[in-house]
Amino acid sequence: MTDFTMKTDADGVAIITWDTVGKSMNVMNGQGFLDLEALIDKALADEAVKGVIITSGKEGSFAGGMDLNVIAKMRDDAGDEPAKGLFDGVMGMHAILRKIERAGMDPKTNKGGKPIAAALPGTALGIGLEIPLACHRIFAADNASAKIGLPEIMVGIFPGAGGTTRLVRKLGAMAASPLLLEGKLNDPKKAKSAGVVDEVVPADELIAKAKEWVLSNPSIVKPWDEKGYKMPGGAPYHPAGFMTFVGASAMVNAKTQGAFPAAKALLSAVYEGALVPFDTALRIEARWFVNVLMNPSSSAMIRSLFINKEALEKGANRPDVPDQRVKKVGVMGAGMMGAGITLVSAMAGMQVVLIDQKQEAADKGKAYTADYMDKGIKRGKATEEKKAAALELITATTDYAALAGCDLIIEAVFEDPAVKAEVTRNVLKVVGDDCIFATNTSTLPISELAKASDRPEDFIGIHFFSPVEKMMLVEIIKGQKTGPRAVAKALDYVRQIRKTPIVVNDARFFYCNRCIIPYINEGIRMVAEGVAPALIDNAARQLGFPVGPLQLVDETSIDLGAKIARATKSAMGADYPDEAVDEVIFWMEGEGRLGRKSNVGFFDYDDKGKRQGYWPGLAAKYPHAEDQPDLHEVQHRLMFAQVLEAVRALEEGVLEDIREGDVGAILAWGFAPWSGGPFSWLDIIGTPYAAERCDELAEKFGPRFATPALLREMADKGQSFYGRFDKQADAA
Ligand code: NAD
Repeated sequence: MTDFTMKTDADGVAIITWDTVGKSMNVMNGQGFLDLEALIDKALADEAVKGVIITSGKEGSFAGGMDLNVIAKMRDDAGDEPAKGLFDGVMGMHAILRKIERAGMDPKTNKGGKPIAAALPGTALGIGLEIPLACHRIFAADNASAKIGLPEIMVGIFPGAGGTTRLVRKLGAMAASPLLLEGKLNDPKKAKSAGVVDEVVPADELIAKAKEWVLSNPSIVKPWDEKGYKMPGGAPYHPAGFMTFVGASAMVNAKTQGAFPAAKALLSAVYEGALVPFDTALRIEARWFVNVLMNPSSSAMIRSLFINKEALEKGANRPDVPDQRVKKVGVMGAGMMGAGITLVSAMAGMQVVLIDQKQEAADKGKAYTADYMDKGIKRGKATEEKKAAALELITATTDYAALAGCDLIIEAVFEDPAVKAEVTRNVLKVVGDDCIFATNTSTLPISELAKASDRPEDFIGIHFFSPVEKMMLVEIIKGQKTGPRAVAKALDYVRQIRKTPIVVNDARFFYCNRCIIPYINEGIRMVAEGVAPALIDNAARQLGFPVGPLQLVDETSIDLGAKIARATKSAMGADYPDEAVDEVIFWMEGEGRLGRKSNVGFFDYDDKGKRQGYWPGLAAKYPHAEDQPDLHEVQHRLMFAQVLEAVRALEEGVLEDIREGDVGAILAWGFAPWSGGPFSWLDIIGTPYAAERCDELAEKFGPRFATPALLREMADKGQSFYGRFDKQADAA
């Protein structure tokens, strides 16, 4: 069985159908390329063939992209010369696509050749769009749910099979930039207006329209193969093009702070490629592509954001329990979190009973869904019917009796153990024995809260991040007595709402907040030491964090920080390590500078809530030291503060799987995505160097940087985290 087959019809049109064996969507693998090339050779050589259509055997999609193992294989097969292996492999892909593009034309006169059309029934991503871009005309079925684009940048690479070079030459650098630099995906109609596809046709006429075109004796020479080709919008040496490139360079750096190698390499490939003829541009694209592939960041990003994220979403750590999909969910508390949980549950088609103390509060929670859908309708992303369908599923009430028949409860009432316990007891009186009870607490131990239930095995934490509809991670927390059915239920629910789960054990602040708090605290400590706030926040941003620690506290609010600090201190007693942090936080709280919500915090804000700059009063209280630390030292303090917490969470068994630690860190708090997550970062710098740095930092700044025993042992043995703990590698 091969993934590509060809049939030539009576009119002499050869239809090549891509149908990856055993997959619901086509994925390109090494053999696939060879099969496609063989069929193209055959069609071009066969005199009976007038032209070719490349399409898909999968309903509603063309292809999902490349099997990334192809790249790993090219690298591994080349032994001591991985870069050469990759470059040769990539140039091999270019040769096949270029063969399609030239289609047998005379290289000098551009005469001859056979028209080759791509006919896309639906989704076409990555290589699934790079192949069509090499064809002479792209037809897309009018399929509103299809996604067309080049999302490679999202996993730390860029389109390296000619997609970069062709798209820039087809659309111009300016128009291509959101598609390449942001990995923006479009439905077919938008892809047509963006100039990516050439025609959108009714799905049942797709092949007929493509065939009509193939038989119309069309001109097939690509603009960039014609003499005198000019890049739309101007090449870099053209005044307009110059402006585009200067602007793009500045914008990319402002966005990425230079922390993402792929964005920079992509821009270089585009700029340098624009200065030279097409075939040289492909070689340049290949060089930069290999440069990115050889950077450990790209493998780490692919591993965390593609392979492992998907594995977790598919239930890599799901207990072997029958299907637990949720039909009816009860949401307790219609505040900020309850309203968001209601929204995402209803959008996933579940019945939702939303309960609050007063009917107005419950109604307000339900109105959040209506507002969200209204915004979607305005932006053309939702319809009145979808809004009505979502609202129809939500019952907003104060009456606990409405919870009858719920198979999952998610409690999001005030963060107060007594209130939560009362709600738990009252809910359990009305729901059936098969109902799982979940709490969305962010700080209270699950095992303690579970004491309010007479079925602690059916009690679990489902910790959302705010805003619920935007944040993709959900942290599932097992209490001491939580049973496998509760874990399966939580995982099946998270899958229904299409988010990414991690499953951790119960301990103070679980996993995510446990790592975020030391990051924030390290930033605040530095303020007290006289480090310039701009240095602290910029150091973090240049590491790829979306916001620096001080800006983050302003967003989450100073009083929340103060509340957590007080609770932690009373729980830890003499062991409490963060007095230096509290001094700043409590002082800010006393000054009424509570962060963005009060329009004053570490930053000043204008009347519209726009950040203005650091509050001068901060420097008056904590004057900047004359000697400012080295950027690298500030960055290491911020990184190790989080990463060591992740290692301790693993050591203590809070984390059971480093993949969850890495994926969770990137999705929950934007941990330097280029690194692949805390454990991947430690692997990139190497455990021996990490331990050495910890020793230095501990000596200079205190025992919070002391090398954890696990890291010390791994450093001594020269081990890496993925070498020692990767569950996927174990399973393979
Ligand atoms: P909130 O104050 O906005 O909402 C709480 C809601 O619960 C209010 O509408 C309140 O009227 C209702 N409520 C209180 N007692 C009730 C009772 N006995 N019965 C029914 N309803 C009751 O709070 P929030 O920010 O939505 O947080 C809710 C929970 O989620 C807390 O446990 C919090 O720690 C957790 N959490 C919050 C965030 C966040 O960023 N805000 C993130 C993760 C988890």
